[in-house]
Amino acid sequence: MNEFSPASDQNDPMANAVGLPRPVRHVAVVGAGIAGLAAAHRVTQLDPACELVVFEAGDRAGGVLWTVHEAGFQVEQSADNFITTVPYGLELCRSLGLGDRLVQTNPACRQTYVVHRGRLHKLPDGFLMMAPTRLWPLALTPLLSPLGKLRAGLEYFIPPRLDDADESMAAFVRRRLGREAFDRLVEPLVSAVYAADLERLSVDATLSRFRDMERQHGSLIRALRREMAARRKARREAETQSGARYSLFVTLRDGLSSLVEALVARLPRGALRLGSPVERLAPTPDGRWDVWSRGRSERFDAVVMAAPAHVAGPLLTPVDRELGAGLGQIEHSGTAIVSLGFRTDQIGHPLRGMGAVVPAAERSPILAVSFSSRKYVHRAPEGHDIFRVFVGGARAPEMAELDDSRLVPLVLAELRRLLRIQGEPVYAAAAHWPRTMPQYHVGHRARVEEIERRAARLSGLALAGNAYRGVGLPDCIHTGQQAAARVLGATGSA
Ligand SMILES: Cc1cc2nc3c(=O)[nH]c(=O)nc-3n(C[C@H](O)[C@H](O)[C@H](O)COP(=O)(O)OP(=O)(O)OC[C@H]3O[C@@H](n4cnc5c(N)ncnc54)[C@H](O)[C@@H]3O)c2cc1C
Repeated sequence: MNEFSPASDQNDPMANAVGLPRPVRHVAVVGAGIAGLAAAHRVTQLDPACELVVFEAGDRAGGVLWTVHEAGFQVEQSADNFITTVPYGLELCRSLGLGDRLVQTNPACRQTYVVHRGRLHKLPDGFLMMAPTRLWPLALTPLLSPLGKLRAGLEYFIPPRLDDADESMAAFVRRRLGREAFDRLVEPLVSAVYAADLERLSVDATLSRFRDMERQHGSLIRALRREMAARRKARREAETQSGARYSLFVTLRDGLSSLVEALVARLPRGALRLGSPVERLAPTPDGRWDVWSRGRSERFDAVVMAAPAHVAGPLLTPVDRELGAGLGQIEHSGTAIVSLGFRTDQIGHPLRGMGAVVPAAERSPILAVSFSSRKYVHRAPEGHDIFRVFVGGARAPEMAELDDSRLVPLVLAELRRLLRIQGEPVYAAAAHWPRTMPQYHVGHRARVEEIERRAARLSGLALAGNAYRGVGLPDCIHTGQQAAARVLGATGSA
């Protein structure tokens, strides 16, 4: 049972009698990343009288979300925008009064490049992460050989697999589009998002809509072409209506830390405790929870566990060994972001895009580079550009752990080669994120269902965060909101 049942109600038979005030509920949130903050915010909305404590191990809120402003640049140290087709990020920003701070991607630079033999080439127009929606640009791209193009085009005629078994991203894409399209297009695009080993990454847990397309339409190309036609129609209809429309990704003008600040500002005074790692959790005989931090224990009616799964696992193992083991099975990879700023006149490449992804076959030290100030123009001072370079992930874990004194020169040399950059950067910094990217290996969905089933048996406990049902910010926000609703016994998606 996962219904919130305030223990004081159970102990005091009169507490629910008509006319008596409901006892104040005590709720703990563990972790002040975006999932924990979204949970805390939803708790205060659902029960303003609730006594809330947000335990955060670090010395600032936001988890990996962190914007710094230095030397005139706006530097996002991890996530730098979020998708708008999953509504929870947009909705949260609007409800916090940040709607007018949302910034769209620069329409002049929506192209993505792919590195091939050391040079940047445009991703064929209409290629959507996994498959082409237009065949002509695919036929003309220098990224694939004639045989590779033929094999990708044959996707139309490859018989679909109709069963429900999960499959690795690599196996799925090779089966549908062939080895070359996988190696040269899909592998770098997907690696840049999931920092994962695609031989192990689950299609079902990440891009399941492509498996659905195969099952329902028999071919990804056929399904995507139909979807694009429907979208064009919807766009034409939307153009006749009023209301804000957003690009596929958006960010906040003052940086994503402004979302964190807005959430923190709405917490009850004193609710956020920085430098307060939760060290132990234990259910009490009366259905509540004792939570230990800094050697002291406090009693709560409910707990939202929004720390990473590799932290939640050991904390919950003494409570339910199998739950702890399930959480422990979710591996995490580490990444680092190197931010490099230059005067625009130092850069030989025209940068007419959002960035470039790098296939594993290139043997480059980097996974991808985002042309951060082309994507969102407010991020660099006039006459300058800033790049965000991704390294590490499951492909090259050792890179994310390199000392800055070795990492920055390595990345700089690679950018000089790819983008024909002259001279020294005017800004350089690296942010390291060890064990922050949960790996959704084949079987992840079933694993998460089992974890959720076991967690649901613990009254007053709910899990939130990026380890379960999506690593993107909107999904993390949603897990936090749902966890809050669950521990407070509210129904609906809240
Ligand atoms: C480099 C990088 C780039 C990314 N880019 C994007 C992007 O552009 N768009 C997008 O949508 N997503 C992106 N993501 C993913 C997204 O940012 C994350 O999935 C999301 O922010 C994770 O939020 P979270 O709250 O689940 O976890 P976290 O942010 O990891 O927060 C967990 C919190 O728990 C705290 N904690 C740990 N242990 C304890 C303890 N014992 N007690 C109390 N607190 C504890 C931690 O200190 C941390 O603050 C990116 C991620 C990374 C790393």
